[in-house]
Amino acid sequence: MSKPADPAKLAHWGFTTRTVHGDRLGGVEHGGIHKPMHTSVQYGYGSSQELIDVFQGSAPGFNYARQGTPTVAALEAGVNRMEQGRGTLCFATGMAAITAIFTTLLRAGDHLITSRFVFGNTNSLLGTIQSLGIEVSMVDATQVGAVETAIRPNTRMVFVETIANPRTQVADLAGIGTLCQARRLLYVVDNTVTSPWLFQPRTVAAGLIVNSLTKSIGGHGNALGGAITDTGLFDWSDYPVIAQSYRKGDPAAWGLAQLKKKGLRDQGASLSSEAAHTLSVGAETLGLRMNATSANAQALAQMLEAHPAVRRVYYPGLSSHEQYARSTELFRAPSWLLAFELKNDGDAMACIDRLTLPVIATGLGDTRTLVIPVAHTIFWEMGAAKRAEMGIRDSLIRVSAGIEDTSDILNDFATALDT
Ligand SMILES: *Cc1c(COP(=O)(O)O)cnc(C)c1O
Repeated sequence: MSKPADPAKLAHWGFTTRTVHGDRLGGVEHGGIHKPMHTSVQYGYGSSQELIDVFQGSAPGFNYARQGTPTVAALEAGVNRMEQGRGTLCFATGMAAITAIFTTLLRAGDHLITSRFVFGNTNSLLGTIQSLGIEVSMVDATQVGAVETAIRPNTRMVFVETIANPRTQVADLAGIGTLCQARRLLYVVDNTVTSPWLFQPRTVAAGLIVNSLTKSIGGHGNALGGAITDTGLFDWSDYPVIAQSYRKGDPAAWGLAQLKKKGLRDQGASLSSEAAHTLSVGAETLGLRMNATSANAQALAQMLEAHPAVRRVYYPGLSSHEQYARSTELFRAPSWLLAFELKNDGDAMACIDRLTLPVIATGLGDTRTLVIPVAHTIFWEMGAAKRAEMGIRDSLIRVSAGIEDTSDILNDFATALDT
């Protein structure tokens, strides 16, 4: 039997060592090196009192898989170690995690400030919560001043992403963190594009962190999942949206308690043990993959920027990027996301179709390089006027760099552009 990991040792280990050996902290089962896939929905107890204690939260344990399983709990512990959080809760998808935050920590009459450049489905979800009576302001989050100007007496939450998709604007993450602390606003950072290996939102005083596990953390395009991490930095004691039943014990636990009961349990977008297992295996190589995909994205961005057919490249690792200094300061590396425009707007599809290595597909943070024409796919539904307002040209091509050998990626793009 392999020995359980020593918790004291774990604290001194680096990110990848902790991720690879972390499961053993919870006690190994039969010496297995992976947390087993627990597929039970019901969990039985020896006496009614034991079940009552689990229900009332006075003893740890599982009762019904919609609220978690041992396999999901192992992934939650892993993501929590990565983000150095106080606690982490997993959901079926990243969108389910974001939905839980917006719908259980805001109510009609509250005001949310967010970025003009959020992920498309998050943008669409913002429309839904507005129809439920929550006020939303979308501002240029690269400028903390724009966030500050938007604050109203009923503002409760600020929600931003680290690197925006597809144009790679980098929010003023540190400035907004300081502002939220001063004004006692709940600061939520979607860390999906950077992942906890490149950036830890707790360093800019985020209260909650969202990760779509589907992207960087799972990393192989074979399972959906999402997570919310509470950093422990937000004071929930005077957050008015917390229901009376969760205002018990240490206020530091209130936010995640409400998310778990009102979000996960009642809304039911629960992660399966099968998906949790797949995501946990993928997560073991997060650091290695993020280093490789960032290096490939950097090399491709530089090659594209120097190419005569290319009008403009958007990548935070280029010195021409508007937030290059901020990105360099905040992130270990600039991640896998880049986008570029061709000089001739009509050439985008033909250029993509000449590529032979990348997969023409939506999706991000895969081991494989993915490309997509932005205006005609993920930004089609919003219409031409909104696209123009967001600076999305018809020739904008988004790339999510994979882990392939760098020269193979560069050669393939060079051939497609030279033709
Ligand atoms: C993909 C994505 C999401 C949604 O995640 P899913 O797991 O696909 O639901 C949320 N935020 C960002 C920044 C994303 O890229």
